[in-house]
Amino acid sequence: MSSFPQSWTSTVSHWQATNRGASSLWNHGREDPLPSEVVDYVIIGGGITGTSLAYQLTRPGAAGHGKRVVLLEAKDVASGATGRNGGHIAPASWTSFPTLVSPLEEGGAGLTEEDALHVLANEADTLQLAEEIITSENLDVDFWKGFKFEVQTTPEGVEKSRQAYEAYVTALRASKAYRNRVPEWQLVGDTEEAKKISRMSSALALNKGPAGSCHPHRLATALARLALASATSTFSLFSWTPVNSFAEHDGVWEVDCGGRGSVRARDVILCSNGHTRTLFPEDWERGVGIAAHVTPFRGHASLVVPPPSYSGESGTLRHTYAVEQGPYLMFTPHSGIVLGVYNATALSQGLGTKADIFDVVDDSVVLPKFKKWLEGYCPKAFDGWGEEAPGEAPVRTWSGIMGSSREHLPLVGPVPGRPGLWAAVGFHGHGMARILTCTRSLATQIHNQGSWDARLPRCFAITEERLHRARTVAPQLVAAQERPTG
Ligand SMILES: Cc1cc2nc3c(=O)[nH]c(=O)nc-3n(C[C@H](O)[C@H](O)[C@H](O)COP(=O)(O)OP(=O)(O)OC[C@H]3O[C@@H](n4cnc5c(N)ncnc54)[C@H](O)[C@@H]3O)c2cc1C
Repeated sequence: MSSFPQSWTSTVSHWQATNRGASSLWNHGREDPLPSEVVDYVIIGGGITGTSLAYQLTRPGAAGHGKRVVLLEAKDVASGATGRNGGHIAPASWTSFPTLVSPLEEGGAGLTEEDALHVLANEADTLQLAEEIITSENLDVDFWKGFKFEVQTTPEGVEKSRQAYEAYVTALRASKAYRNRVPEWQLVGDTEEAKKISRMSSALALNKGPAGSCHPHRLATALARLALASATSTFSLFSWTPVNSFAEHDGVWEVDCGGRGSVRARDVILCSNGHTRTLFPEDWERGVGIAAHVTPFRGHASLVVPPPSYSGESGTLRHTYAVEQGPYLMFTPHSGIVLGVYNATALSQGLGTKADIFDVVDDSVVLPKFKKWLEGYCPKAFDGWGEEAPGEAPVRTWSGIMGSSREHLPLVGPVPGRPGLWAAVGFHGHGMARILTCTRSLATQIHNQGSWDARLPRCFAITEERLHRARTVAPQLVAAQERPTG
């Protein structure tokens, strides 16, 4: 009997549907016996966090050099949020700044301005690191780098963005570390220009800044493949191996995988995202620790095949989008547009209740109102979209489960009070813009036996103080609806 909280069948995303060939890792190691000797590192979870950590640990000279690294995945590689996301690697603009610095009690992250600037700078670094890894390793993952439009469609949205810009620029000027940083984003305040370049007559203004995209299922697969091919570490991937529990005795962790057996390891690293709390049933029950800090929640996304007006050299979208009271969306190089719904949009437009979104682990269903909204969005929003032929328009809609931390910041590093236990969880709807730098730093920390890697914002560290403070002052789910994904 497995304690893994999901059913074994899920909706199928565009990314999962288009990575089925021999180079994919479906069912990898599914029937293989688990190692009988004590291994060095067990990673739990094979999304982009687990696979990129495996990649980092198994590089020459890294913590896993000359060691045995094992990844246990409950289903298949990238079967969770990673294989179901929008594919958007979108560093946040200044519009996130006010929430990062607003108090925890009010649903903000409660950061100092300096820490908030570090969080934003780190997201830009993540895009750069994604490009570096994908280019240097020659990964065939449809990587694209260009610009994102944050489109404002209401006067309040325009004003909010302008105020956020002022706050951000003022903080930059006052900052010790970032005073010379030139904002990577531009304001396009001229409404006619915003309408023209976005091709949306509802646009009043927009912010334009750097963004990327990729095929996330292929990226996670490619990183796991690089770990499997490591010449300096022994790496094994066991899919369809859900972990029920783990316990430490005399410096060795016993990781129980139910009917699959168990693995013993010196260190265990949780990359289990939205399902982390089921690994700590007692803490979850008591409302303490990481278990109480990371809450699962559900998102929906669709693939839309555009008509000829939005296809080809002259028609295709050339930017990714985040639309106020709308979706986030990006174009794929061959298949069409992937768009997803923000929680705030879903709630304000009555697509679902909080109970449909938060504290939910089921990705086997697509809620009808979400589907209908996603299906109807592009023809209404994009100028000159035109008539859709049979086979154009939305071809697939899916759901996926994310993990939201109380402050919407990830938890990365050693787990307090549990030597040999590490975590990188709670990436909310924004993991693609954060995870690669988190796992690079986590691998460095593991190598350095826990000393913090200063490249990563210190506010991502898991401390008793952080867990306690969030538990006592942060509203858990209410804030999540305000925050963007993608
Ligand atoms: C619809 C949707 C759209 C999104 N769009 C974007 C976007 O455009 N841009 C962006 O930045 N982010 C987006 N996100 C969020 C992003 O996908 C996540 O932040 C990111 O993928 C998290 O990666 P992860 O590896 O930590 O988690 P996951 O990909 O969820 O991986 C966790 C893995 O752990 C496994 N696991 C959990 N518990 C156990 C256990 N007990 N035993 C074994 N295995 C276990 C799970 O099966 C899962 O495969 C979106 C998410 C969704 C659902």
